[in-house]
Order: sequence, then C-alpha cells, then structure tokens
Amino acid sequence: MPSTLALFGILIASCLMSVAILGSLRRAAVPGIDRWCAAYALLAVVSSLVLFIDERPAPAAIMVVGFITFVAVALLVQGTRQFFGIRPARRDETAAFIVAYGALVYVTCVAPDVEMRVALVSAVLAYGRVAVGTLVLRHAPRDGARYGYWFVTVAAYLGALVHGARAVGVAIGAMAPVTYLQPTAWSVLFVGLAIITLPCMSIGMAMVAHDQLVRRMEKLATIDELTGALMRRAFMAKANALHARALAAGEPLAVAILDIDNFKAINDGFGHAAGDRTLTHFGAVVARELRACDLFGRLGGEEFGVVFAGTHKPEALRFTNALRLALERAAHDGVRCTFSAGVACIAPGDALEAVMARADAALYAAKAMGRNRVVTAPDADALSTV
Ligand code: GH3
Ligand code: MG
Ligand code: MG
Repeated sequence: MPSTLALFGILIASCLMSVAILGSLRRAAVPGIDRWCAAYALLAVVSSLVLFIDERPAPAAIMVVGFITFVAVALLVQGTRQFFGIRPARRDETAAFIVAYGALVYVTCVAPDVEMRVALVSAVLAYGRVAVGTLVLRHAPRDGARYGYWFVTVAAYLGALVHGARAVGVAIGAMAPVTYLQPTAWSVLFVGLAIITLPCMSIGMAMVAHDQLVRRMEKLATIDELTGALMRRAFMAKANALHARALAAGEPLAVAILDIDNFKAINDGFGHAAGDRTLTHFGAVVARELRACDLFGRLGGEEFGVVFAGTHKPEALRFTNALRLALERAAHDGVRCTFSAGVACIAPGDALEAVMARADAALYAAKAMGRNRVVTAPDADALSTV
C-alpha cells in the first residue's frame, strides 16, 4: 500500500503546481483567479501542517488547521462566484463561516468529540466542492466548448462524494475517525482521491479561465464595442453562410442596408461624443427590435447591414420600416436620429455582393427621396431585363 506520507507530499506539490498554473492567468485579469490561487496556497499550507500533527493533536493546532481549511473553502467558492460575475453572498457566507467555526471550537475545546470534529471538517470540505461544482454547472455558457466546465464539475462532485461519505461514515460510527496519515485503506483512498480531484479542479479552472479569455478575444474581434453589432468581417462571414444555406435550401433571404441620416450634422451640432452615444442608442434599438434569427452588422461609420433569414422582400420591408419607426420614436439625449434603408432579396444563383449592391442602390434612392424612408430594390430578374 502506498505510504500516506508520500501521497501527502504529492498533494502538497499538486497544490503548489495549481497555484503556479492559476497564477499564470493573473495577468489576464480573469475574475476570481486571485481567490482560487490563494485557496490553493492555503490548501498547500494546511496539507503541510497536517504532516506535523500527531495522533492526538493539541486543540490549538486543530483550530489553526481548521481555520485555514475553512478560509480556503470560502475562497474557492467566492472565486468561482467572481469568475461567473455572480453577486457575492458575504452576509450568508460570514454567518455560515461563524457557525461552522463555532461548531469546530465546540467539538474541539468545549466538548471534545473526535467523530463529530472529523465529520464537521469533512462536511465543510464536501460543501465547498458541491458549491463550486454546482456554480460551474449552472453558469457554464450554453454554447461553444464546455469541456473545461464539465471537467471542474466532475472533479468537484467526485471530491464532494469522498468528503461527504467520510462525514456521514464517521458521524454514524461506520468509519473510524483515523487521521489521514495512518496508512489504512480508507485514508489511502481519501488522500488518493483528494490528490486526483483537487488538481483536476484547478486544471479545470485553468481551462475555463482560458475559455473565458478566448471568448473575450472573440468578442473583441467580432463585436463592435459602440453599437453591439457584428463587425464588418464577422458580419460578412455569417451573412455569406446564411446566404449559401438559403440558396441551397431554396429559402428566401433579404438584406437591408441602413444608413443614419445627416449623422455628420449630429456630430457637428452636438459633438463627437454625442454622435457616439447616438450610435450606441441606434444599436440598442435595432438589437431590441430584430428577431433572434436576424443578423446585424456595422459595415462602416454609420452604415449597417441586416440579413433577414427565411424572409421575403415585403416582410423584410415591413420589419425595416418597423425598425425605422421605433428609432424615430425613441429620441435619445434630445437628439433625434433617423435612418434610410434599401432592401433587396436573393435570386437563384445570386452572389451576396450582388444582393448588397442592389440594397445599396435602393438606399441611395431613399436618401435622394428625402431620407427617413425604406426603399425596396427591384428583383434581380427585373433588373436584367431593363
Ligand atoms: P447622409 O444622410 O447622406 O447619410 O448624411 P451623413 O451626414 O449621415 O453622411 P456623411 O457620410 O456625410 O457623414 C457620416 C459621418 O459619420 C462622418 C463621420 O465623421 C461620422 N462617423 C463615422 N463613424 C463615426 C463614429 O464611430 N462616431 C462618430 N461620432 N461619428 C462617426
Ligand atoms: Mg449617413
Ligand atoms: Mg454613410
């Protein structure tokens, strides 16, 4: 049977490695990383202290080890909350901490009870794992790669199972409350599983932190900060995909090109910052009015594109006009903002660029007609016969 002492050595080393791995992500300012690092550093300290505790530890030693362990558990849970941007539950956590630590004082100093003490500490460790696993399971993004999130959850729940089983086993007297350092089958199993699940959790946390960084970069590269619309390149890529799918399936697809009216006058009259705020307002109104299946992108400056998937031209005209009226109604900062738009739809064998060119020509017609209106482009076959 492997010596528990050697297993503890590996546990301490794996906690320190976890600090190094998570610490490498501190520079990227991932929320919660600092608390995770601190938690693993404290777990390394606690695992080292346990090595020096004999079979009959002094109450003071137990209280110190217990305190550090409880703080580490609280930091792990708080770090996970921070990571997902969940509001801290400081009052509840402080109350739970005081109750748990008070109970530890009671079963250690007031009415010493080894079984209850071991059960209590195991229950707190199990709680920490369940809390982390559940937070990750609940708040993991629903799209994209979710492997890292599953990794943390499985490791956390597995650890919770081990600590929970120990808490219950010792509390009901089915398991002897031996110290982890005694080389019994149970202690080897517990320390062994702790060695597997603790670093697995930190590796999983590093994975989810990387995932968050990738998502942040993707957002920076694809979403226009000012308007929340897709940037031109991302918009064109997605529009091309929708266009190809519509042509292949023989489904309708319409494109609208929107241009804010007299935007230069807004900049000149109210200042560039007010112009920026107007763009943000425009983006918010459009995002609110469009359907989830529609694509909205900033083509440049104050010109935008919308792709209406599965939509015929008259319906796209109706949607765009509804959008126009919604913007007209929603004056922002006292600045009235309108747009003109051109709408075109695909024809068999059409390239997306051709549809957009027809929508653009219709947009120019709308400007020429006095702005704040939507004009539909003639169909492609009508154009070819002119
Ligand atoms: P029209 O009705 O014919 O479209 O007139 P317009 O004034 O909207 O068009 P024009 O092309 O003359 O001016 C567009 C202006 O939009 C010029 C440019 O400085 C401004 N603009 C482009 N991007 C931004 C931006 O991100 N922020 C601000 N504040 N202004 C921008
Ligand atoms: Mg304009
Ligand atoms: Mg323009």
